[in-house]
Amino acid sequence: MVDFFSHALWAYALFHARPDALAYAACSLLPDLAWGIPAILLFFASGRKLSEMRRWRHLPHEEMSKNLRKQPYFENVRVAYHASHSWLIAAFASLVVWAFAPKIALAFFSGVFLHLAMDVFVHKDSVNGQEPFYPLSHWRAPSFVHWSNKKFIAANYALLAIVYALILLGRV
Ligand SMILES: [Zn+2]
Repeated sequence: MVDFFSHALWAYALFHARPDALAYAACSLLPDLAWGIPAILLFFASGRKLSEMRRWRHLPHEEMSKNLRKQPYFENVRVAYHASHSWLIAAFASLVVWAFAPKIALAFFSGVFLHLAMDVFVHKDSVNGQEPFYPLSHWRAPSFVHWSNKKFIAANYALLAIVYALILLGRV
């Protein structure tokens, strides 16, 4: 995941000219909601407290990864993560949405695949990494940086600020 807000902000920026741009932004959050909500529920179901989760967020990346691997529910979350970030499963889910809710199919497809494309190269040394062909293959996409890298976050938000300024000025 690139940070949660960036996914929605980029999706909205890219599709802002469409009347249903908010649907694109909402759909761009689905891959992280699909594994993040079960992960949070399992965290609390295992008797953990909110304060512990807050503390984790401030740990160095390596230490947080170590903590995650030790959790009894780690394997379930790993499966949910790879399933929600699989390009194959996203393609299949897009077909299902197209069959049953064609009006939102384009927003679903575009939002979800924009999310996956943004994630694919920015999970260096991540606990799970990106496996676009899961479950058929466990091949991991090469990564060049982790999205939580401070310089990467600064560059990302600087770029977002420029893009939104151009949108507000009516230049794009
Ligand atoms: Zn993600």
